[in-house]
Amino acid sequence: MPKHSRKTRDADTDSRAAAIRALPPIDECLRAAKANPALAELSRSYLKLMLQRAQAELRAAILSGRDPQIRDRDAMIDAVVRAAAHAVAADEPLLRPVVNATGVVLHTNLGRAILAESAIEAVELAARSAVNLEYDLETGGRGDRDSIVEDELCALTGAEAATVVNNNAAAVVLALNSLAEGREVIVSRGEMIEIGGSFRLPDVMAKSGAILREVGTTNRTHPNDYADAISPETALLLKVHPSNYRVVGFTSEVTLEDLVEIGRARGVDVMEDLGAGALIDLTEYGIPHEPIVRDRIATGAAIVTFSGDKLLGGPQAGVIVGRPAAIDRIKRNPLKRALRCDKLTLAALSATMRLYLRSGDLAHELPTLRILARRASEIGAIAPRAREIVAERLGDGYVVEIVDVTSQVGSGAMPVEQLKSVALRVTHPEKSANAIAAMFRRARIIGRVADDSFHLDLRTIEDPAVFSVKLETD
Ligand SMILES: *Cc1c(COP(=O)(O)O)cnc(C)c1O
Repeated sequence: MPKHSRKTRDADTDSRAAAIRALPPIDECLRAAKANPALAELSRSYLKLMLQRAQAELRAAILSGRDPQIRDRDAMIDAVVRAAAHAVAADEPLLRPVVNATGVVLHTNLGRAILAESAIEAVELAARSAVNLEYDLETGGRGDRDSIVEDELCALTGAEAATVVNNNAAAVVLALNSLAEGREVIVSRGEMIEIGGSFRLPDVMAKSGAILREVGTTNRTHPNDYADAISPETALLLKVHPSNYRVVGFTSEVTLEDLVEIGRARGVDVMEDLGAGALIDLTEYGIPHEPIVRDRIATGAAIVTFSGDKLLGGPQAGVIVGRPAAIDRIKRNPLKRALRCDKLTLAALSATMRLYLRSGDLAHELPTLRILARRASEIGAIAPRAREIVAERLGDGYVVEIVDVTSQVGSGAMPVEQLKSVALRVTHPEKSANAIAAMFRRARIIGRVADDSFHLDLRTIEDPAVFSVKLETD
């Protein structure tokens, strides 16, 4: 290597080290920032955070050789404060609206159900005001927050009692802990589910303090497997809806009816974790079949749990319905206090259920149902306009085609059944599907890559104008 090159490199390193040493302490930047009218009003802790970020960026620029060539202390302070002021102007909350063009209607990572207008209004009202959350307006005494939704839940499911917690995972833990702590719960090996990696039935069971007693095999479980396992230690027979997978082929499952029968003969209750928890018959809307809570209660399950933000189309919540004696034990468990819902959730849940009970046009007013029920022909009707907008935003080089696809319900519901849908397929002769996906992501549009190309599934798009965004096409 030629001598002068090493010398230059050493000089560079020295100069960078000097620049790093000259980086101003945050306190000095803070003092300077307080003199900047755009920043003076901000809290000290927020200002400090933004200055630290700006300083870290300057440090990274120096280290990576993108050296802004500032060596003077005052100029550095000025650079940091100016960068912080830019960052403050551009700063927005990290939770942002995105366009869900994945075709997955209940996308867990995108927040699952979108609320109905009436539920949004109810949340706003409750947020703005004091409410009778646990206050009896008749007597002036203490009320029960569950009573806000209990009648509606019972009316919709046929159950005699109900309670609500933060999500269905909490509902399962709470129900098992209340009804089976230190005792055995019998579950089929075919129902040992894992949902999204963070809900594994054996782990949830262990945390609840119930003792898992697995019976049968992965593909086949028979009535006798349960009957033979029942002992004085048995607290519950548990059935779990295998939401996100199906066992197919040589299989045999014990129906809820048989399970209830076995339990009744031996004096053991049956609990079912239904997962998605449909409140109505979805097949009437052209959506694949999903077990209905009311039917499970009618069949004789003592406890049924399900999510509020899956097929129900409401806020995140875990609903527990069933027999009064069991619900009562659940409500008296101190864990219930730790898992209870806040007023905003209860407001949204109540409004959503009132839609089920009162709306003459649920398929229109409940977004989850409306989007699931969209037929491919309806989705196809907006495709030309969507294509036009996207093609115009992308400009030359990109190819935007209208293609038939299948989309999914999501959140583990109906994993095998697919909904016919229509998508825009976006391709470019030199760009990979993942690069195109990243470009759309930067504009907060989330699509999906399938068969090596990027797709914008239009099932979850009701207004093509959401694609009228600026895309950084190169
Ligand atoms: C989704 C699901 C859960 C978890 O429900 P969350 O509301 O996400 O906590 C538990 N069990 C089953 C069967 C599910 O489908």
